[in-house]
Amino acid sequence: MYPIGHLGVALALSAPFVAVLRPRVATRFTVLALLAATIPDLDLFVPGATHHGVTHTLGFAVAVGLAGLGVFAAASTLASPNTFDSTAPVPRVAVFYAVALSLGVFGHVAADVLMLLPASQPVSPLWPISHAPVRVETLQYGNTVRNLGTFCLGLGAHAVAVGWSARGVRVRALGSRGIDEED
Ligand SMILES: [Zn+2]
Repeated sequence: MYPIGHLGVALALSAPFVAVLRPRVATRFTVLALLAATIPDLDLFVPGATHHGVTHTLGFAVAVGLAGLGVFAAASTLASPNTFDSTAPVPRVAVFYAVALSLGVFGHVAADVLMLLPASQPVSPLWPISHAPVRVETLQYGNTVRNLGTFCLGLGAHAVAVGWSARGVRVRALGSRGIDEED
């Protein structure tokens, strides 16, 4: 899949979260998912790295989320008045941002399993548990129009989620707090 197609998948996967998160958290969630969706193919620019190698695994998706959680939790601790309180819980928004990072990478890996470009190295998403390449390739995605179509579908799903969220915010304003911001 082309980069624009990967961004479309990230937009589609983050849409359900955008529908239930408050707007500011939802915007950050989407930006992080989009950024994370570009990470796996950075292996193309790393000298000696195998394209569709370790960055295209579910383990890498989890690792990116955990690394992000550590960074967000540390940043939140430094910004809080009780900087030296190591027992303070990790803010809930930090967990959502970590999920966004994992989701972005996961979507990229899943899309490359389902829609690998012709003549590309297959993906082994379960490495290091299994080295077996998984190629489903239900759709031929070496096509700009199809990739742009995927981006438009993701954008559409996102627009629906934003619209739904806007109505939800009005409902929450009447009494229910929903998923809150903590920063
Ligand atoms: Zn890729």
